[in-house]
Amino acid sequence: MPASKRIAVIDRELCNPKITNYACMKACPVNRLDKECITISPDDSKPLIDESLCIGCGICVKRCQRQAIMIVNLPEELRESPIHRYGRNMFALYRLPMPKQHAVVGLIGPNGTGKSTVLNILSGSIKPNTGLPGEDIPWQDITGRFRGTELQGYMKKVSGGSIKPAYKPQHVDLIPKQWSGRVKELLAKCDERNAMDKVVKSLNMDVMLGKKISELSGGELQMLAIAATILRDCDFYFFDEPSSYLDVQQRLVAAREIRKLCDRAVVMVIEHDLAVADYLADYTHILYGEPGAFGIVSKPYGVRLGINTYLEGYIKEDNVRFRPEPITFSQRAKPPEKDRLFVSFPGLEKAFPGFTLRTEPGNLYRGEVIGIVGPNSIGKTTFIRMLSGMIKPDNMTGKEEPLSEIALSYKPQRLVLGKDEENMTVQQYLSRAGSPSGTENKRMLRFLGLEKLMERQLRNLSGGELQSCFVAAALMRNHELLLLDEPSAFLDVEQRLRVARLIREHAEVREIPCFVVDHDLQFIDVISDRMMVFSGQMGTAGHAEAPCPLAEGMNSFLKELGVTYRRDPQTGRPRANKPGSQKDMEQRESGNFYYAE
Ligand code: ADP
Ligand code: ADP
Ligand code: SF4
Repeated sequence: MPASKRIAVIDRELCNPKITNYACMKACPVNRLDKECITISPDDSKPLIDESLCIGCGICVKRCQRQAIMIVNLPEELRESPIHRYGRNMFALYRLPMPKQHAVVGLIGPNGTGKSTVLNILSGSIKPNTGLPGEDIPWQDITGRFRGTELQGYMKKVSGGSIKPAYKPQHVDLIPKQWSGRVKELLAKCDERNAMDKVVKSLNMDVMLGKKISELSGGELQMLAIAATILRDCDFYFFDEPSSYLDVQQRLVAAREIRKLCDRAVVMVIEHDLAVADYLADYTHILYGEPGAFGIVSKPYGVRLGINTYLEGYIKEDNVRFRPEPITFSQRAKPPEKDRLFVSFPGLEKAFPGFTLRTEPGNLYRGEVIGIVGPNSIGKTTFIRMLSGMIKPDNMTGKEEPLSEIALSYKPQRLVLGKDEENMTVQQYLSRAGSPSGTENKRMLRFLGLEKLMERQLRNLSGGELQSCFVAAALMRNHELLLLDEPSAFLDVEQRLRVARLIREHAEVREIPCFVVDHDLQFIDVISDRMMVFSGQMGTAGHAEAPCPLAEGMNSFLKELGVTYRRDPQTGRPRANKPGSQKDMEQRESGNFYYAE
């Protein structure tokens, strides 16, 4: 069968002919010539589009009130059929990534381009149908597609059922719903390699062994999920976003531990924190295409070139530009405007049983975004709560001015839904924060891609969709001060940049000061005017300096961590230096831990 030029995808959940009365079918110019381009499926009475007849005019897309149809052209150069298609007018995946011995393979690309589909195929839970849904394709036809590559041997093993996979899921917030008991009990259950003591020590998890799973923080849940995966004895390990909820140091520790697995098995990782992906993987494939419609897996690249190619948006070998513009990371870092003081705050002190916090006095200006970095459980949220008057400091130093009550809007780090929220639609959830139909809000919801999801239930959203919802609600609530805790988690690279742009614009236009806690240093770099660095002992004692210029803050933060970063000359993105490398030594010596050219 010749490969089709375009793909038609109908979102069968959104599609509702009772509302639209088959407007797509009535308007299709091919149908009007008495050909059966759009027909009605006998299975669900919803439209089906014949891609071989479709001329790609896009009229049905415009006519569908429910925005349920996507018609997208495939790249000219793509002459093959998909490796898998979920069904007629459903998502299609082209090609597969190459499992490599003794190397970690990264997958980067937008959400919805098929990374989980890849996982399901390589782990043997989906048998690929080569784009012919419903047909049982002989395995030799499938493995024959990969003749002469590592994939052929690998897929032969998959066909024989001899691949044992281990999978670290993306959404670690769901773990307490699936597992009860204590951390050490779950780890012991997973410990097929008899390596629990070693792994626990390497990941600094000793203190959490006795804790109940239901009481873990986000970072602890992530570490638990990573450790439980590493402890399994498998042929194929797949980590879906191992970095979310971990602080910078923990990200590097987890990356080192995951890397050790590649001596014994195939290891693949999805990671949207590019500095972490860079540190973790040896090779990377780019997934590109149209989220929700089709995804194409690129050839493997060395990790630096792969990330740079992804940012550039152009794949030379295939002659495909998959994004009109390259992604660039320009620093803003404008000095705060002194005439726009929002609040001048004193030094603050607070003690909880077992935890003390001390922060230095400082100024906060209208419309500025302050990036906050530091370990988890170091007092970042406590500081903002004191600043907004939600909790009273035990002691104030310096100016001794009392803090007045400031309306704070807060997006917590973890995306946990309350019992009443699980069955809510996006529309209902957002309506509690403000009016989703107000002009500004509507624009924001469209920008975040939420407009199409308004009728969906929160519990059916992907991690990235839920994050966008939480961020939108925080921005819609009435507030004078905004605190977003790790808004980048679960977002892909492009979504991170969108959210960064949105927050910046929100701060500037509404003159609201925003604090953004994040552990993706590139995100912090893009979003912040100034920075606040928290240091100390996780869960025991925290200290914060006053807000300071970005470069100064980043430098002191990285110095504390003992890690040096340089800028990639081509894209300007931060890259962690390998410890002991020449660059690392030079930067350490000069005291320039942050982005020496
Ligand atoms: P990613 O992991 O990159 O976000 P996925 O592989 O999860 O992407 O999904 C790619 C597309 O395939 C999505 O649009 C998703 O809705 C669709 N999809 C995933 N699983 C199924 C399924 N079982 N049936 C139909 N469509 C699916
Ligand atoms: P971060 O925002 O940096 O993750 P938090 O400010 O939330 O840290 O918490 C810092 C420490 O203070 C943690 O160990 C936390 O358990 C503790 N803590 C926070 N709020 C309270 C409270 N109301 N009562 C007791 N301990 C608290
Ligand atoms: Fe018909 Fe294709 Fe045009 Fe839609 S895009 S109206 S299916 S020809």
